[in-house]
Amino acid sequence: MSLYRGRFAPSPTGPLHLGNARTALLSWLAARAAGGAYVMRVEDLDGPRVRPGLEARILEELRWLGLDWDEGPDVGGPAGPYRQSERRPRHAAALEALRAAGLAYPCFCSRAEVAAASQAPHGPSDEGPRYPGTCRDLSAAEVARRAATRRPAWRFRVPPGPVVFEDAVHGRCVHDVLAETGDFVVTRADGIPAYQLAVVVDDAAMGITEVVRGDDLLPSTARQLLLYRALGLTPPRFAHVPLVTGEDGARLAKRHGALSLGELRARGADAAAVTGLLAALSGLAPAGARVAPRDLVAGFALRKVAPRPVVLATAEVQRLVAPRSS
Ligand code: GLU
Repeated sequence: MSLYRGRFAPSPTGPLHLGNARTALLSWLAARAAGGAYVMRVEDLDGPRVRPGLEARILEELRWLGLDWDEGPDVGGPAGPYRQSERRPRHAAALEALRAAGLAYPCFCSRAEVAAASQAPHGPSDEGPRYPGTCRDLSAAEVARRAATRRPAWRFRVPPGPVVFEDAVHGRCVHDVLAETGDFVVTRADGIPAYQLAVVVDDAAMGITEVVRGDDLLPSTARQLLLYRALGLTPPRFAHVPLVTGEDGARLAKRHGALSLGELRARGADAAAVTGLLAALSGLAPAGARVAPRDLVAGFALRKVAPRPVVLATAEVQRLVAPRSS
């Protein structure tokens, strides 16, 4: 296997917009500039939110932009399967290992109960309020009694103390997971592995050495590092690239208009101009450039990506779809 193994891990729960496309481009460039392998993994665990047909569309749109991958759900590879929903036995085995080591325990609390019991300020938004540890030390008899009427979720027993890591874009990061998040869910009550567990198990099994992703996931990294440690796995290096925001400073969303790649394409945008805009937003090309991703590989370095949000002006998007005057 190559020394550098990068990946992109889209969730087929919403269409690709320019922000996701920029993250994909940067992770692809980092892998290709290092002469590494690039893996596509589809994160489709959240069954009810997964939209039929979206996986194929996302992969098609990434190819349209000019990205390619050495391994993935549509091309296969030695570390497959490349769809998380097909990797459930591996996630279950990891939960089993945590349970056997006394590092995961059943939790019978509902979301509302966690919110009500939590006195602490809210933790990272993706986990909701900090978990106060209600079910941390239930006796075996109590667990058996509750399990008779309710299927538990499983939480990771977070060790005290700071988690320190070096992010390639944000520099040194320190998170006290127990204080900020508390024991977090690794498997939901419906048996679906939580993102935190699945991403660690799959990145490790796929030999990923570098994770380049959006910095909305920066707060998750400390949790993931704790799981790597608990499971005896080697963590990758992390680079969290800033998200693209709309002119109002809010993270790109549907309400910012026709920003999905599919819509841009349907309205006549050309891939070289879209890549040019993504590159210009990242300081890799002059405004108005028309480029293919492969033109940007030479000289690319993640450290050139600034750790501040990137603002996308609506006018720039409009220019992509306006008829070209010639
Ligand atoms: N599937 C996640 C998303 O689409 C990305 C997870 C990751 O890169 O670790 O937001």
